[in-house]
Amino acid sequence: MQVRVRFAPSPTGYLHVGGARTALFNWLYARKTGGKFILRIEDTDLERSTAQAVETILDGLRWLGLDWDEGPFYQTANLELHRQKAEEMVASGHAYRCFCSKELLEERRKAFEARKLPYKYEGTCRGLSSQEVVARLAAGHPYVIRFAVPRDEGAVSWTDLVYGEQSKQHVDIEDFVMVRADSSPLYILSNAVDDALQGVTHVIRGQDGIPNTPKQILIYKALGYKVPEFAHLPLILDPSRAKLSKRLHGDVVMVKFYQERGFLPDALANFLLLLGWSPGDDREFFSREEMIEAFSFEGINRSNSIFNFRKGDERNFTDPKAIWMNAEYISKMPLDRLLPFVIAEFKQKGLWRSEYESERSEWFAKTIDLLRARYRTLSDFTSLGRPYFEDDFDYEPASVSKNLKDTSLVTLLPGLADKLEKLQDFSAEAVEAVLRTYASQCGVKAGLLINAARTALTGQSVGPGMFDVFATIGQRRSVERLRRAVRLVVGQSA
Ligand code: GLU
Repeated sequence: MQVRVRFAPSPTGYLHVGGARTALFNWLYARKTGGKFILRIEDTDLERSTAQAVETILDGLRWLGLDWDEGPFYQTANLELHRQKAEEMVASGHAYRCFCSKELLEERRKAFEARKLPYKYEGTCRGLSSQEVVARLAAGHPYVIRFAVPRDEGAVSWTDLVYGEQSKQHVDIEDFVMVRADSSPLYILSNAVDDALQGVTHVIRGQDGIPNTPKQILIYKALGYKVPEFAHLPLILDPSRAKLSKRLHGDVVMVKFYQERGFLPDALANFLLLLGWSPGDDREFFSREEMIEAFSFEGINRSNSIFNFRKGDERNFTDPKAIWMNAEYISKMPLDRLLPFVIAEFKQKGLWRSEYESERSEWFAKTIDLLRARYRTLSDFTSLGRPYFEDDFDYEPASVSKNLKDTSLVTLLPGLADKLEKLQDFSAEAVEAVLRTYASQCGVKAGLLINAARTALTGQSVGPGMFDVFATIGQRRSVERLRRAVRLVVGQSA
């Protein structure tokens, strides 16, 4: 039997981290078993589904590298078929037409509520004779189609691949509506029929699908379809146990946000993998191949996953673990795999120069390699990294007041610049030798010059080894920046 799994998003919004995790787990299972990963757009909510939402979902999946083998199929294309299946169930006695009016049902529900009892449709129309049904149809009475849940002591049971034995008594299941009075099928029907017709063998979806499962199993059985396996995934909650929502948490729940904030798709996928799944040992980093190899339903946790989003600053905008993971990828992945992402970031920010493609390409790659150890997102390369590539950059006030407060720097910085200007070979070692000699000649600590130079050259207080910074920024620009910084020395007027 070939495994067939599907991701079935409703295109009513954006692709959120929960949906992306569901897609990832489906994809992993398909890839692991040599099966097929199907993409089905559940667009039956016509009022809320938009073409733009579909695009965002496809975009997000592509960006995450979750390639699908079949689809996208659109659920609305099959509505007629779903209706037919309901008719088939009416014909075989597994469903019936219900003529009870909305008003009547509403009245009954209220009466139950008044007595604090849950209302469940009592099956009034279940016993209508075929003559009565024909007469009402002929008179044009509107009707819905309801499933006739067996009236016995039995139960619907399944072994969930994550949550284990599940069961619901028939008496606890209402004769649920499958087709509305306007003849549109309900989601519960469309979803099950599509799964059956698309040959889905494993339904891997969020835990919020559990209440639908017994009804869907009844539908499968009534139509003579093989019941698929079910694997429900734990919820994703914030630290205060609220469900992640755009309304509550903002953009941080959207995949697109990570794309825009400079995440690497592999890092986000790795983070999502660990959101509800664990390998059973302490491994944290998984290449795609390793994920595929390690993934199993047994590793999925039953307890809810906590997503520790943050409403922090530019650099702390989401779960610290996600940021840490991205930083690890940035600093450790093979440079040649990182570069295309960095180049795209430069292009997007308008900082890409044609010279990086030719004579400076090696310099560009080396500079990225030097910077990446400290960076967390791709955006850091164009924000924090800006001084390495552009002459106009900001000096952080804290860096200026810390490193440029000694007034003797007014003469020391140009003095150092003069010495460095004379260097033939502007290597890190040569710069270091010049700086240290100059410091001892002037009777100051080398550290004073090193720190001041860092602020002068980059506007920042932290960064790679300072002599590497000199060599990277280059002789002409380093000399210029040392001279230019004199006006910044604390107390100097510009
Ligand atoms: N369209 C449903 C959703 O987005 C899919 C549920 C399922 O996978 O069965 O929640």
